[in-house]
Amino acid sequence: MRKTLIAANWKMHLATHEASVLVHRLHQHINGHRDVEIILAPSMLTLQPISVELDRRRFRLAAQNAYHKDEGGYTGEVSFSMLHGLVHYVIIGHSERRIYFNESLEDVRDKVAAAVRNGIVPMLCTGETKQERDAGETRQVLHDQVTTAISGLTAQEVSEMVIAYEPVWAISTFGGELAKPTDVARELAFIRHQISELYGEATAIQVRILYGGSVNEHTAAGYLALEDCDGALVGSASLNYRSFAAIADVAFKLRHQA
Ligand code: PEP
Repeated sequence: MRKTLIAANWKMHLATHEASVLVHRLHQHINGHRDVEIILAPSMLTLQPISVELDRRRFRLAAQNAYHKDEGGYTGEVSFSMLHGLVHYVIIGHSERRIYFNESLEDVRDKVAAAVRNGIVPMLCTGETKQERDAGETRQVLHDQVTTAISGLTAQEVSEMVIAYEPVWAISTFGGELAKPTDVARELAFIRHQISELYGEATAIQVRILYGGSVNEHTAAGYLALEDCDGALVGSASLNYRSFAAIADVAFKLRHQA
């Protein structure tokens, strides 16, 4: 059975000492659960010091981005090969990167390939903008984002990756409109269906699909209970240890009931 993943995206928040305090609090308030993985994605600068403090039996680390080349004259960039051994996951194609840093479908594809090449599990972010939703283009956007990003991967590699559905309009930084769980259910099923069409049923059953978009301790249960939802990618609520621990608790309880 697939594990539930609860991932914290701290974005460009928390200097090293602040991240360290938050990790300390999370150690105090989140216990391990064999069916739930808790993932922390601090800033690039903070990954190394946090990795030393982290109880790796309870938490896994993710980077928020990396550059697709393994090394060379790319001033200011950090490669996936440099993150090898430090992080388990890398968030790729987050809407903030697609929108603010103009990451194209092909950029995202190259990053997914670089992550896999370097033994890091990609957490591919997908999702339509409000304008695309209003124009009825959600399915086309999700299709293009998913199929391009994984076009170079084998079925085995796809089965091990994570895909997050994060409608841009639901992310707190872009308005934070609450998505209805019934609508989310349809898009999660659509993503799994696409994987099935491309790679077969066995791969589709294994790929983990998360929901992200203003998830907090009050809304988490509605999304986490959905059949195709394997967890949550949490932004702003993950900066508050009480909220994030409460979301993890919702996941623990749902797994106990299962
Ligand atoms: C995100 O940035 O991935 C996200 C889901 O943010 P928030 O939870 O703040 O909407």
